[in-house]
Amino acid sequence: MNYQLRMTLIDAIDIEMGETKRITCPFCNGKSTFTISKMEDGVILYNCYRATCYVRGKKQGQYYASDIKKKLDKKEDKGYNYISDKHFTAITSSPRAIKWLRDRHSLEAIVHNRIDIKWDERRKSIFFPIKEYGEIIDGVDTPLNKKQWRRRGNSNKGLIVPHYGEYSEHQIYTPRVGLVEDAPSACNVSNIMDACAMLGVHLTEEMLLDIFNNWDQAIIMLDPDAQNAALKIKGQLTPFVDTHILRLSDDPKNIPTRELKEIFDKWITKL
Ligand SMILES: [Zn+2]
Repeated sequence: MNYQLRMTLIDAIDIEMGETKRITCPFCNGKSTFTISKMEDGVILYNCYRATCYVRGKKQGQYYASDIKKKLDKKEDKGYNYISDKHFTAITSSPRAIKWLRDRHSLEAIVHNRIDIKWDERRKSIFFPIKEYGEIIDGVDTPLNKKQWRRRGNSNKGLIVPHYGEYSEHQIYTPRVGLVEDAPSACNVSNIMDACAMLGVHLTEEMLLDIFNNWDQAIIMLDPDAQNAALKIKGQLTPFVDTHILRLSDDPKNIPTRELKEIFDKWITKL
């Protein structure tokens, strides 16, 4: 089917902003095999489950008056707070930070240039950056004297730690991504596959779009207390990517890398 015809069929589907529908596929006529979703920014995602069809894609949808009103009602500001790096120094300037990262199996991610973690002397905090086109648009502050980390910006994006490193000219991704709660867990999982920290147990639209664009399969790896959240996220992702839950005894950051690899390898053969 040519591209134009496909777009015409997609445009013909009546869907509102923020809505997800499961309908008969307009391409293969598979009953309820076709999922379409319209994001807050008007982007439309669609996907057919049927193996013989497997239509899948994304397009910028049209804006309608009702959509624009909804968007204004949300008073959403899409501008990023770019983060200045003037208080950052190399992570190696803090032996305490290095120990903290080693205890959470996160050092290898730095050694392999998968993430450019910094030390923030003013805040006595480890900073995990979220970048876009080389600029820091967001990130996570992890103060060493406090228990809780916090997101510094407003991007709603996940913190991605790519297995093959963040500096490759054309970013190469692994076929699957591991979804975790926090930054050090993403660092540890990046030893096995690309990893995305949701910085919580809630999947945002921005994360969903990134996952849809870059990976064919998502593996949710949350600690045992968050299994309800894991099921919810699986429900949100399944229409768009092949999604599975890997049940672990703890957060990935608390499981030694070799053990985590063994658990994963054993689990994936049974999938
Ligand atoms: Zn189909």
